Amino acid sequence: MRILFIGPPGAGKGTQAARVADRLGIPHISTGDMFRHHVSTGTELGRLVDSIMKAGEYVPDEITVEMLRDRLAEPDAAKGYILDGFPRTAGQVVALDGLIGVDGLDTALEFAIDEDALVERLLGRGRADDSEDTIRNRFKVYQEQTAPLLDLYRDRGILVAVDGLGEIDVVTERILKALGR
Ligand code: ADP
Repeated sequence: MRILFIGPPGAGKGTQAARVADRLGIPHISTGDMFRHHVSTGTELGRLVDSIMKAGEYVPDEITVEMLRDRLAEPDAAKGYILDGFPRTAGQVVALDGLIGVDGLDTALEFAIDEDALVERLLGRGRADDSEDTIRNRFKVYQEQTAPLLDLYRDRGILVAVDGLGEIDVVTERILKALGR
C-alpha cells in the first residue's frame, strides 16, 4: 500500500503517520524528519536547509525530490509506505508521478482540522521552527502551495478526509477505518 498523508502544519500528521505505518508494517517516510536529521547531524544538506526551515519556507524541489527518490529506492520501500509531507508542491507531484506512476498512490489521506486548534498546538510544541512568525508563514505557504494538491488528488479519486482532532488513539482508529483496515 502506498499512502500519502496531507494536511496543514500541526495537524498531527507525523504522529499518526508513524502509528499507522507501524500498524500496517510499512515504513513511514517523512521529508520533514529526514531534513531535521540532516540538520541535527550537521550534514552539508542540513546546513543548506536549516535557515529555510526556520523561516517556514519550503526547501527547493530539486533538493527534496532527490532526497525522496533515494529513500524510495531503499529495499524496505518495496512493500509500500506512508509518505508524510511529500509531495507538497505541484512540481513534487510531477516528480512523484515520474517515480511511481500517475496511479502509484492508493490513497491520499487529508487531515481536516480546525485552524485555531492548530496554532495552539504548534505554539505548545516548542520545535525550532515553531515560533509564531514561522508558524504563520508555514500556514501561508501551505495554503498557497500544498492546499491545491487536495483538488488534484480528489480529481484522481483517491482523496479521503479524516478529522484530525481528538484523542491520539481515536484518530488512529479513524484513519485505519478510512483506509479500510
Ligand atoms: P509540519 O508538518 O509541521 O509542517 P514537517 O516536519 O513536515 O512539518 O516539515 C518541516 C519543514 O521541512 C517544512 O516547513 C519545510 O521547510 C521542510 N519540508 C518538509 N517536507 C518538505 C517538502 N516536501 N518540500 C519542501 N520542504 C519540505
